[in-house]
Amino acid sequence: MEINQKTEQVKNAKDIWKECLNIIKDNVPYITYNTWFLPIKPFEIEDNTLKIFVPNNFFIEWIEEHYNTLINKTINQVLGSDGKLVYIVLDENDESSVINEIKETTTSNNHQKEVNGNQRNYETFLNPRYTFENFIKGEGNQLARAAAYAIAENPGQTSFNPLFIYGGVGLGKTHLMHAIGNKILEKTPDKRVIYISSDAFTVEFVESIQSDKVNEFSSFYKSMDVLIIDDIQFLVGKEKTLDLFFQIFNTLHQNGKQIVLSSDKPPKELKGLNERLISRFSWGLTADIQPPDFETRVAILKNKSENFGINLSNEILEYIAYNITSNIRELEGCLIKLLATSSLNSREIDFELVKKVVKEVSTNKQVNISIDYITKIVCEHFKVDENKVREKNRRKEVVIARQIAMYLSKLLTKSSLKTIGLHFGGRDHSTVIHAFNSVEDLIKSDNTIKETVEYLKNKIELSST
Ligand code: ADP
Ligand code: MG
Repeated sequence: MEINQKTEQVKNAKDIWKECLNIIKDNVPYITYNTWFLPIKPFEIEDNTLKIFVPNNFFIEWIEEHYNTLINKTINQVLGSDGKLVYIVLDENDESSVINEIKETTTSNNHQKEVNGNQRNYETFLNPRYTFENFIKGEGNQLARAAAYAIAENPGQTSFNPLFIYGGVGLGKTHLMHAIGNKILEKTPDKRVIYISSDAFTVEFVESIQSDKVNEFSSFYKSMDVLIIDDIQFLVGKEKTLDLFFQIFNTLHQNGKQIVLSSDKPPKELKGLNERLISRFSWGLTADIQPPDFETRVAILKNKSENFGINLSNEILEYIAYNITSNIRELEGCLIKLLATSSLNSREIDFELVKKVVKEVSTNKQVNISIDYITKIVCEHFKVDENKVREKNRRKEVVIARQIAMYLSKLLTKSSLKTIGLHFGGRDHSTVIHAFNSVEDLIKSDNTIKETVEYLKNKIELSST
């Protein structure tokens, strides 16, 4: 019987998805339809929720970013206003094809939500896409990640209460905060966990004033086991919201409940936040996140491109990591754009395309050749450790690599002699001049050197235009 029911569901889901596709087809370019919507397969329909399989997370991100309205309208049209859509990512690496539920579209304002089989009477706002498993560790985020992990294992039980994470945009604060909440619910589904941005918190608070429900608002948040509030810099100057937040904070803290906060600056720089709050933040742990270093950027790109189902050469990954340095959101943006451009134009992801996309994505628009990049290419060629050329190493191949890297830096960048010297372990500008002259002499007298320098120059220039 059950099996019959299941096939019935599958058939229905198929028909429903077919109807959806018909609508979508009429509303997007053919090539978009082919690339992003055709690969989706219906799974089942249950309680007016249509579950569909998507190949990977980037599909969801892409579709949500570009076609959220269309998807919501389509679902409404086909399933009615209480219709819902759930994306399921098929984990290709998992042979038992265990599925990860990913994201539910919010076509209706449904506050009843089932989480891990427990009926919850509020929305956690946790995004299951952000986990510790897919958070890449690096020097810049080590402390924040370790602290986040520790409290996820033992919420309210460590001395990290509150945990205050701060750092620039796109560095992974929000990701970590969701990861904490998701992990806690995974282990203890009954815990009351909520993630909220401070904007949403303020809006809800104002609404509660208007509808005369401030007490309800306040006791709702005081009933949490874990309260996660993102971007609290936006609370600065909102006196009433801050007052209430202060009360909630105290109640939760006294009862050993976990509080997690984030901001773009450290607490003491949050001008306009009152002292009593700032001093409370220092009861716990303040951890910063710094921009990712080169290795971490490569690791993140590798991981994300694999999730995306594309295989990029190390050369390409490193090129992107060299040129996009500011934050992880931009690295992701670059990958998405690469995939989009290649699929829209049915073009392979080759170096040419990568250069074009990096140029478009990087904030400074102009891809400058950096001294670090030159050093890297030169050292690779001579099989010399990059650090060695920055140290006082007098080994022959190190000296020649250092001199050629300096020579090319002078030739290919607009950096001053002083700047170039600084990049090579704080050497003097006269050392750079000396290196430049030596290499020029060598080029005249030694054909092998001449060819090598020519080759390296081409290689660097080619990968930067
Ligand atoms: P923030 O809140 O600090 O502005 P986010 O958490 O929104 O940054 O991160 C921006 C994007 O980069 C997100 O898609 C996030 O998943 C991704 N990201 C950030 N840090 C990492 C990391 N260490 N590993 C993998 N992905 C990351
Ligand atoms: Mg954020």
